[in-house]
Amino acid sequence: MTTHLSPALQRIAASPTTAMTDRASALRAEGRDIISLSVGEPDFATPPHVLAAAHAALDAGDTRYTPVTGTAALKQAVALHFARDLGLPTDPAQVIVTAGGKQAIFEALAATVSEGDEVIIPAPWWVSYPQMVRFAGGTVVPLQTSAADGFRFEAAALEVLITPRTRWLLLNSPGNPTGAVFPPAMLDDVAEVLRRHPHVLVMSDDIYAPLIYTGQAHVTLAARHPDLAERVLTVSGVSKSHAMTGFRIGVATGPAWLIEAMGRLQSNACGNPASISQAAAVAAFNGPQDFLSGWRETFRSRRDMVVAAVNAEPGLSTPVPDGAFYCLVDAAPLHDRFGGDDTKLALHLLEHGVAVVAASAFGGSFGFRISFAADEALLADAMRRIAAAVQ
Ligand code: GLU
Repeated sequence: MTTHLSPALQRIAASPTTAMTDRASALRAEGRDIISLSVGEPDFATPPHVLAAAHAALDAGDTRYTPVTGTAALKQAVALHFARDLGLPTDPAQVIVTAGGKQAIFEALAATVSEGDEVIIPAPWWVSYPQMVRFAGGTVVPLQTSAADGFRFEAAALEVLITPRTRWLLLNSPGNPTGAVFPPAMLDDVAEVLRRHPHVLVMSDDIYAPLIYTGQAHVTLAARHPDLAERVLTVSGVSKSHAMTGFRIGVATGPAWLIEAMGRLQSNACGNPASISQAAAVAAFNGPQDFLSGWRETFRSRRDMVVAAVNAEPGLSTPVPDGAFYCLVDAAPLHDRFGGDDTKLALHLLEHGVAVVAASAFGGSFGFRISFAADEALLADAMRRIAAAVQ
C-alpha cells in the first residue's frame, strides 16, 4: 500500500512509554494478568475539590471554546503556581496552557528549531524529547551522564557541546527516567556557561518539582537566575502533582515572543485545551496543596521498597532516585543473555506479567525503567515477578 508519510514523521517512532502501556492494557483486556509499571502516572485519586470543580463547570455549561492559550482564570492560577511553588514571578500574559506538558514542549521546539539546529539533551532523557527535536528537523546532541555521577553533568561538559547551531538546552529536574535532582550549585555553573552563550535557549521541564524526597526545596533556573529568564521556557502542569494525567493540562511561562509563537501554532493545530479540564486545573492550583506532603511520603516509601528489591536481585542494580517516581535499573549482567537488546528484556518481563520500558528508549545503558507510582502490594508482586523472570 502506498503511504504518504512526510520526512519529518519518518524521523520519529511512537512514544515507547505510551506504546508499552497500550500494549499492557491490550494484554489485560485479553485476560492476561499484567502489572503495568510502564507509565509515569500517580495511582492516587484526583483530589475531590478538583473533581468538584470539573462537575461544577459541566453543570454551568462551561462547554464552549475558551481563549486558545487558556482562560484568564487559569492563567492567573498558573501565575500563582509558578510564583508560589517555583519561586518564579510570572505575568499571566506570559503563560500558555496546553494539552499536557508534552504539547508545550512540542510547540516550543516546533516553533523555534530549524533544519540542522542542535538541541543539547542530558541523557538518559525522557523518551519524547529527542523525537520532538527530530520531528522539527533538529539534531539531538546528547550530554551523557552516568549513575556514578548521580546523573548530573559538569558545566564544562555542557560548554564543549555548544556550537553556533545550538538552539536549546533541555533541563529536567527532578528527571525522568533518572530521578536526578540538580542542586543549586550545579544550576549556578550552568548559568555561568549560558551567560557566555546568549544564543542558547533553555527549556526547564519542572513537571516533577513537587516530588523531591531529600527535603531540599526545588530550584528552577529562571527563578534562581532571573537575568536568564528571558530565554528560559519553564514547563509545569497538574498531571503529576494532582493525579490529573487524563485531564491533559500542561502550563508554561517564558519570553513573550515564544509564548506568542507557541500560541500561534496551537491556534492552528488544536485550539484551546478542554474547557472542563481548565476549570479543574484552576481548582488544582488555587486550592489546598497540603495533601502533597502525604503523597510525597508514600512515593518515598515505595521508592525505598523498589530500590531495595532491585538491589537485592543479582544482575540488577539502581541508584536511589532523589525525585520523580522512576527507578532506572541497570541490568548490564544480563546484556549477553538478551543479545544486548534491552527491548527483548522488557518483552521478557512482560511475558512474566510486568510492563516496564527499556532503558535504551531513554538513551540509557542496558536495563529498564520502573515507575513506582503504583500501590505497595502491586509493586511487591511486580518485584517478585521481575525476580522470577531474571533468575
Ligand atoms: N511522562 C510519563 C512517562 O514517562 C507519561 C508518559 C509519556 O508521555 O511519556 O511515563
